[in-house]
Formats: sequence, C-alpha cells, structure tokens
Amino acid sequence: MNHESTEDPLVILKRIFGYDAFRPFQREIVEAALASRDTVAVLPTGAGKSLCYQLPAVMRSGLTIVVSPLIALMKDQVDQMVAAGVAAGLLNSSQNAEDARETIRALDSGRLDLLYVAPERLMTDDFLSRLGRWNVAALVVDEAHCISEWGHDFRPEYRMLGTLRDSLPAAPILALTATATPRVRQDIASQLRMREPAIFVSSFNRANLSYRVVPKSDSLRQVSEFAAARPDESGIVYCLSRKNAESMAYELKSSGVEALAYHAGMDHETRTANQEAFIRDKVRVICATIAFGMGINKPDVRFVVHADLPKNVEGYYQQTGRAGRDGLPSECLLLFSRGDAVMLSRMIDQSDDEQAQAIARAQLDRMLAFAESAECRRADLLRHFGEEWTGGNCGNCDNCLEPRETWDATLEAQKLLSCIYRIVQKSGFSVGWKHVAEVLVGARTEKIQRWGHDQLSTYGIGKDRTRQEWGDLGRQLARKGLVAMSEGKFATASLTQLGLDTLKNRQQVLLSRGWPGENVASVGSQKRAKVEKEACDEGLFEVLRAWRRDLADQRDVPAYVICGDATLRHIARTYPLDLQSLASVPGIGERKRADFGEEIVGIVEDWLTEHPQMFFDTGEMPTRIPERSKKSGASVKETIDLILEGIPIETIAQQRGLHPTTIYSHLAKAIETTEAGKSMRLSDWFDSVEAAKIQAAFEETGWITLTPAFTWLEGTVEYNRLKIYRAFCRRDGIAH
Ligand code: ADP
Ligand code: ZN
Repeated sequence: MNHESTEDPLVILKRIFGYDAFRPFQREIVEAALASRDTVAVLPTGAGKSLCYQLPAVMRSGLTIVVSPLIALMKDQVDQMVAAGVAAGLLNSSQNAEDARETIRALDSGRLDLLYVAPERLMTDDFLSRLGRWNVAALVVDEAHCISEWGHDFRPEYRMLGTLRDSLPAAPILALTATATPRVRQDIASQLRMREPAIFVSSFNRANLSYRVVPKSDSLRQVSEFAAARPDESGIVYCLSRKNAESMAYELKSSGVEALAYHAGMDHETRTANQEAFIRDKVRVICATIAFGMGINKPDVRFVVHADLPKNVEGYYQQTGRAGRDGLPSECLLLFSRGDAVMLSRMIDQSDDEQAQAIARAQLDRMLAFAESAECRRADLLRHFGEEWTGGNCGNCDNCLEPRETWDATLEAQKLLSCIYRIVQKSGFSVGWKHVAEVLVGARTEKIQRWGHDQLSTYGIGKDRTRQEWGDLGRQLARKGLVAMSEGKFATASLTQLGLDTLKNRQQVLLSRGWPGENVASVGSQKRAKVEKEACDEGLFEVLRAWRRDLADQRDVPAYVICGDATLRHIARTYPLDLQSLASVPGIGERKRADFGEEIVGIVEDWLTEHPQMFFDTGEMPTRIPERSKKSGASVKETIDLILEGIPIETIAQQRGLHPTTIYSHLAKAIETTEAGKSMRLSDWFDSVEAAKIQAAFEETGWITLTPAFTWLEGTVEYNRLKIYRAFCRRDGIAH
C-alpha cells in the first residue's frame, strides 16, 4: 500500500511518529534495514527498538513481518501503529477467527505494511505457502535471544525460524533483543542464517533510572511510605514469594494506595485482569513475583521496588529496566537485608542439581556484592554486562549522591591477607572464611589443631575483632579483587595477584564504612535523586492526563497508545495554541494531530483562560492568550452553525474531515462558553429518563473524568454523550 520512499527517514520520523531526532543507533539500524542488510541490534529496554523496524516498514513497499513471542503485546503495538496512521495487523492464537480472516484478507489485497505474528503461527505450512503472495519485503525477529539456547529464555518454537531463509530468500532479516552476550549474538546470526550481518550494540546504561539500595527494616511500611510519597505515579513492587506479593498489596491498599497482586499462583483470569488494570491505570501499583513483566511495555512505570533481594543481577537489571521506558526519570529501589540472602541461600541448598546450585550460588554472591557495594551502582551494573562506565560520578545513584565514608583498613587487610597466605603456605590448600576468621581470633577448633594452624604467626592476631567482622572484611576485600573465591558450596579464599602485591608492598587499602544510614527506615522522605522530571505546569498536565484517560477508555486501549507522558509534559510546558505549534510537540505525528489536535489546543486555551497566573516558566501571561485563538474558535463556531442547521454530527465530521469525538468536543465547548451554546437545551439532547440516569452516575462518581460515570452506567451511554451532558451541567452551574 505504501510506496518506495526516497525521503529522508528523519522526515518520516517526524511525520508519522512526531519525533525530531533519532535515538542512538536508530538511524543506523533504519538505514541498514532500508539497504536490505541483515542486521542484529542489541539495545536495552526503552531504547526504542520498535521504531527501528516500524519506520522502514512505512518507508518501503511491501510487507514487513514481525515475529514476536509476546502475544499480549501485539494488540497494543498494532493499536499504537494504527493511531499513528500506519496500516498494521496481527495474527496470533488470542484472536478470534473473524479477526484472523480479516487480517488475511487485508494481506491478500496488499493493504498492510506491518504484520505482527506469533512464531508458531508463522511456521505453519498454510502460512508459509501464502507468504509468496504477500510481497514480503523484510522479516523482523523481536526478542531474538529466544532463538539461542545460550540465552536465558530459549524457546523451541524460535528454532524453526532458521528455515525462513528458504521461504523468503530475498527478504533481509532484522533481529532485535535487549539481552545478548557475544555468544548469543553469534548464535542469533547463525541460527537465522544471516549474511554478513551489520551488528549494533548500544550501551546498557539507563541514564533516566536512579538506583538506590536501602536497608530493609519493615518492608511493608517502607514500601507503603514510598508509594504514598509518589501519589500520581505507577510502579511495580517485586516480591520473592506469592505470599509476600499478596500481603504487600493488602498493606498498600489499607494505607490508601490502589494496588493489586500478580503471581503465578492466581488463576489465569484474575492474573490477566490485574495486569490489565495496571496497564490501563486502574490501579497504580502492582505487587508481583518475577512472573510479572515479560510482555509489559507500559512506558510510564515510574518506580520499581524490590522488596526482597533478587536472585541475580541479570534479573534485577531486567526488572528495574521496566521502569521509565519513556525516557523520563524513574526510580529503582532495593530493600536489602542479609536475612534475605541467607534465606535464598537455603533455597539453593535444597536443589539437588549440583551444577545448577553452583551457578545459583555464584549469582547470589554477585547480587550480594552489588547490594553491599559502596561503588557507583551504574558502574557496577554495567560492568556486569561487560561494559565499562567512564562517566565518573553518575549523580543518580545512592552511592554517588551520598558517598559512603571510607576508613583506612590497611592494617586489617594486612592481617587478613597474610593469614590466608600463611594457611596456604603451610597446608597447601585454601580454606573458607569461617576458618580464616577462627585463626585470626585465635579460636581452638578441632581443625585448627589438626592442621596445626595455631602454630601460624597470624594465629590470634585479630582478637580485637569478632569472627563476623573478619568475615565481612574478607568479603569486602574479595569485592575489591584482592581475594578470589572458589565456586561451590564450600567456597574457599585465596590471594589474587593484586592481593599478593598489596600484601608485599603494604599498599593502602580504603574500605567503606558499614551500611550508610542504617537507621533510615523511611524511604519516602529521603532525598530524591538529582535528575528531576523536566518541570511543567503540573495542573495542566493533570487535566491532559484526565483527557487522555477518557479518550483511551473510549477507544478501549491503554493510555500510552494515545500518547506518552513526555508528550503531555511538553504540551504543559509550551502551551501550544494552534495546530502549527502542536506540530513541534514530540510524539504527535500528522495523524494524531488531525485526530485530536484541536481538542488539545482547546484544553490548553481553557486552562490558560482559567489560570492565567499559572503560566509556567515566566510567571506571566503570554500575550496571545486572552483573545481565544481565532482558528480553533472559528472551528468551534463552524461546527455549531452546522449543528444548529440540524446536520447530524457524523455527517459534520465526515464533511470536515475531523474525528466525531472532535465535533462532540466542539459542541461541549460551545455549550459551556459561547452565545450560541446558551440557546441550546439539555432536553433537546436527552430525554428525562436518560438525563436522570446520567445525573445519578455523575453525582455518584464525580465530574472530573468521564470514565467512572461511563463504568457506573455499564457502558450504556457513550462517552461523547456524557461529555455533552456534563457541558450542559457545567454551563448551568450544576456540575461541581
Ligand atoms: P524498546 O522496545 O527498545 O524497549 P520501545 O520501542 O518500546 O523500546 O520505545 C520506548 C519508548 O521510546 C516509546 O515510548 C517510544 O515511543 C519512544 N521512542 C522511540 N524512539 C524515539 C525517538 N526517536 N524519540 C523519542 N522517543 C522515542
Ligand atoms: Zn552512581
């Protein structure tokens, strides 16, 4: 349906998606795709991977097929594309037969640019035989790590995708993933039989996320306070067990935070309903086990809290990565207690697969090291993924914002390192921390006597500290790379080259003081991270959010399908008063501008008229406001004239090339604010029975947004009519 485009991708980026600039690597990936080159792109969550194939799909002729295992996400993605004016469809098992037939018809007649399909659906003989007729221009494999057994999420049905090269020899393949080690990357390219693929790997730093670790004292209370201190934000609270998730949700609810639980122990319906309630902003916090999250692309998750210690750093990174996909500042908070580590360690002991045990234990140690580290969280996380952080103080994690005090531990380190050294020298094998600490404090254990370790020069030289303290110190030295730990259940300590050098040269060793702010129980009141949200007129932002809420509910899609928070904040900062200036708002492409641009402009106008003193930024009235901006005023007038002539609203919409919702908005506005509106009568639009019903609904649920009334009426009165009803009541001073 589209044509081969020779336009600059940047122009299309603006027209369709409303963005002014590419994010890192997007342009390169788009260009590789347009040049029909096989490509592997590894970009973290929130980097904007979807755009890398959506944009080329619009630009080239023919169909782009996107394979994705995340069935739950497909509909949102298609809705988002359709809202931006792109011909997109989907095929998967969750869809009814009629919808599937409709998609196939659209494909047969070449009407689609973009098709999302589940792998098992794609690989059926029936489907493969049709491919040839659909002019397939490119193939996209999303979540491509699923194809590799080396990845963490191998899916057998992905393996079959390798044969697609035979069915579509000419179509270039783009593989996308947020997680891939070099080995997995290689595997992706070879499994998909790529030909000299271009490979793009971006930094895994999530600059908009702040990281914070706080000692856990009373997690229920801590999380409630934290959530209550962020009343307008949605967030995920990860808990280790189903029970914890349930009690966390219960606690939040009883302290007035709308929350629901999500875990694998719930029946399918409840789980789906709770997830949906979260995505659609019906509740703002979801308390979940790690079963939750895969396939969530809610972009405005503002915080992710780990109420219990995660099992490994990969999981932690992935779960925290669900915050702030829209690029706005978001918070990651980990409540840490050693007790959690002990409990996890016991769980590991129960497994009887030794190899799995060893891996799990090493991962837990790594997680523990992260939690206890005094170093930049960002640097530590990135290093874990093989990336070096060169940015110095990141200014957006607890350790950078409130650096820990350090102390000179040279003497202690000397004692400890030499003790390990002597033990190995004497016995020829290394031992665990417990034994090292026992030698240092001069304990009389059976082993010390049997191995003659009471003869060592280091025996008893550490009486001034407890065994526990020596153990902690040892672990800190291990983290600094002075000591290496063997893997396995009974890990033993030996000196690294660095440790040996430090010992021989008596180098200074600085360690950080215990745990910072151990007494800080209340997280909510803590200093917030430096990276603040870009300021905007919060009042207007809330009005815009309410408007978006209504429109989303009306279209039965999540709010972010309409537009993102960043877009609304931009509007609430720049006050666009005509369609022209709306064009410079990121995230509003041509289709959206045509669909609801007028409404937004109208909201901004109304807001400024009512709140001139709140004009953000300068604190002054912008000079253009007081006279209602002529264009939209004229547009409202034109609508009203037609309505007064008795022309049906649908017809007016068609004639004027506007969305019916816009026409209804004109009408509502005219009723509330114009002379012509004064002459209109409620009884011309509603009979008394319906009016009474609607009145009751509004009185019960409030007048601010329409959705509560809509729900109360069980959908029997459509949104647009509710809007009109409310306008009459506002005009007459009945609505509050
Ligand atoms: P990923 O799949 O990599 O996790 P998404 O494709 O979901 O990321 O994109 C994350 C968010 O970034 C979306 O809200 C998207 O609209 C936005 N986005 C993508 N590209 C750009 C861009 N060039 N400028 C501004 N926002 C963008
Ligand atoms: Zn930092």
